[in-house]
Amino acid sequence: MLQLNQLNVVSRFVPFTAKVSPGTRVHIIGPNGAGKSSLLASIAGMLNAEGEVSIAGQLISSLSGRELSRLRSYLCQQYLPLSAMPVFQYLSLHQPAEVNSAQLEKTLMMLCEPLHLEDKLSKPVTQLSGGEWQRVRLVATLLQVWPTLNPQGTLLLLDEPATGLDIAHQLAIDLIVNEFCAMGGIAIISDHDLNHTLHQASQVWLMSKGEVIAAGSCEAVLNPANLAPVYGVSFQLHQFSGKPWIIAS
Ligand code: ADP
Ligand code: MG
Repeated sequence: MLQLNQLNVVSRFVPFTAKVSPGTRVHIIGPNGAGKSSLLASIAGMLNAEGEVSIAGQLISSLSGRELSRLRSYLCQQYLPLSAMPVFQYLSLHQPAEVNSAQLEKTLMMLCEPLHLEDKLSKPVTQLSGGEWQRVRLVATLLQVWPTLNPQGTLLLLDEPATGLDIAHQLAIDLIVNEFCAMGGIAIISDHDLNHTLHQASQVWLMSKGEVIAAGSCEAVLNPANLAPVYGVSFQLHQFSGKPWIIAS
């Protein structure tokens, strides 16, 4: 369980209270500047926020950095590589401590194969394309809390994970995140693709001007009446191929 109690950052987003059950995939949507990244960074314990965050019954303010890193991992929106270390070394910095090496190898391959990183492991992180670097950052974030390596791994916080990824790699990430949730993990993901959210999220938080103005199921939140005033454009909901689709105009 993840609990947020009156979580806020002055001048960035107003107090927000929520409970998220194991196995839930939450998408945060909203225009640029709505407060998505600030909320994610606060849940991660990376911003000087007011209010409380507890993960699996533990208040994050009472945890050491090491304890927190076992419970949650966090992909920030942007981050450029700082040194020319090879990909495998960068990934090793994110692997949970005291893991069985065979289990580590297996998990690493399970994450690297669908993201086509096996042949990039010895390449310096400074010589990757933008999308390749994003895939490496994603594998590192997943590795940190992957439950078969780290049984305390509970929460995955991903700020615009699809940035720079082609459609095949976006689908691959979706499958991996869903597997994490199927094992009882919680994923909280910011997203600009409303149809992607509609098809993938089990819960949606809609943010506008520093406030979560609607939270609940896709059906309850992702409707034209909620979205139009937030984005300032009109929306229609259509059915195609047995699924709902949102069209903006
Ligand atoms: P989003 O991720 O939804 O685009 P952000 O959380 O990045 O929005 O920004 C929310 C608000 O906080 C915006 O008004 C933005 O200008 C402000 N903000 C973002 N980063 C900082 C910062 N480092 N210092 C002060 N204000 C910031
Ligand atoms: Mg952001």
